[in-house]
Amino acid sequence: MFIPGMGRTNADPNFGSRPFAAGALTGIRAWQVQGTVNKPLEGLFHHQEWGPGVNVSFCDNKPALKNACWKDHEEDPRAHVDDCYFDNRCGGVEMKCGCGFWAYTNGRNDYYRGMIGQGGIAHVSGIIQGFGKCVVGPKGFRAEKAIIKCLILPARMHTRMVSDQTMETVLQRQLRRSMDLLYPGIPIFSDEEIAMAEYPLTLTEEEEQPDEQGMG
Ligand SMILES: [Zn+2]
Ligand SMILES: [Zn+2]
Repeated sequence: MFIPGMGRTNADPNFGSRPFAAGALTGIRAWQVQGTVNKPLEGLFHHQEWGPGVNVSFCDNKPALKNACWKDHEEDPRAHVDDCYFDNRCGGVEMKCGCGFWAYTNGRNDYYRGMIGQGGIAHVSGIIQGFGKCVVGPKGFRAEKAIIKCLILPARMHTRMVSDQTMETVLQRQLRRSMDLLYPGIPIFSDEEIAMAEYPLTLTEEEEQPDEQGMG
């Protein structure tokens, strides 16, 4: 059913196309930070702040317009009243939705490398363990609950923050101190490969590509 004005429908199938029932999943991901001093890690698309313990995701879909209203108020969007909207939140990490904590299991960490996602001053990478309700996809998973297993620094500073090497060094030092303070006991690695050797990513099946089907 098409629902006009439906909120976010950007569920990324790379992070969840099949339910996953048991155990925990390990994956690599990125966060943004809004500053180098005492600013917690935040999701790149869902601006939920992460703590050092168990993080629990929530669905942040905004209320969406009902079908009937779409017809009644087609001519004048200003006529909408509270009753025109319905609660568009999912039951939690549903496949059609985009909520939950995502992470890559293929090791590529594309959002980090491409600096994809919203602002802040930097992208920070790290490895998480996801559990609770999870869905898995060809590149990774989305999980209802997650803990940070380790962080990887230095961060990737947004270029507008950094005018020269000295500036970069200062910011990276501040950020590291801040991470130590906010996430006590969570190891910080300076090398992604070493981090992944210490916390191996869960193997999930890559979906078959056409050129891998032996059809010539
Ligand atoms: Zn949802
Ligand atoms: Zn309306």
